[in-house]
Amino acid sequence: MNLHEFQGKALFAEYNLPVSNGKVIYDANDALKACRDIGGSKWVVKAQVHAGGRGKSGGVKLVDTPDDAIEFAKKWLGKRLVTYQTDANGQLVSSILIEECTDIADELYLSAVVDRASQRVVFIASSEGGVNIEEVAKNSPEKVIYESIDPLTGAQPFQARKISKVLGLNQSQTKQFSKILPNLMKLFVNRDLSLLEINPLVITAGGNLHCLDAKINIDS
Ligand code: ADP
Ligand code: MG
Repeated sequence: MNLHEFQGKALFAEYNLPVSNGKVIYDANDALKACRDIGGSKWVVKAQVHAGGRGKSGGVKLVDTPDDAIEFAKKWLGKRLVTYQTDANGQLVSSILIEECTDIADELYLSAVVDRASQRVVFIASSEGGVNIEEVAKNSPEKVIYESIDPLTGAQPFQARKISKVLGLNQSQTKQFSKILPNLMKLFVNRDLSLLEINPLVITAGGNLHCLDAKINIDS
């Protein structure tokens, strides 16, 4: 079963992972209240479909007035969004996530999958986030790290440090990542996930790690 981004982020929040303050809407009339509740003067509006590549297809937009959020919701709700990860028919947009805008310094990649061969959860990380990870793995394999987690011990501090190094994190970010990694592992195991992807995991302008996207598949 695939979760929408807003559902994935709700799970992230339960596991103390850093996510944006946001609201999901199913009706364009609710966009104004959502923007006001979130506060601030810039929001990101995100069509909820079970596919990535939304940013490049107009399904994710930065807006600086609630009117633009309303317009985006009117444009997409009930319509089909086609991205490079959908088929030509695209996917129906029935909800939109409105969230606070994060100032991004750098976009990283982090995911976890079940490796059938070793029967372990493997984390995959790269300093090249926000882009297609398959391309990075093909063209710059040295920029991707695969770290397998022992189910008996869980994610170990040395593994968090090893991944942090590949991600190019500084000391305080490494400390943050050392909390994020075991929490993600707990989420993965406790909730029977088959895939978890954060693309991008970002470093904010303030220097903190933040989960900007969330893709979760639960083992059915
Ligand atoms: P997709 O993977 O479907 O394209 P993302 O959630 O990854 O959708 O969003 C695409 C891009 O939009 C991100 O790489 C990031 O640059 C930007 N973005 C997404 N959410 C936010 C946000 N809350 N604040 C600022 N930028 C965002
Ligand atoms: Mg993404």
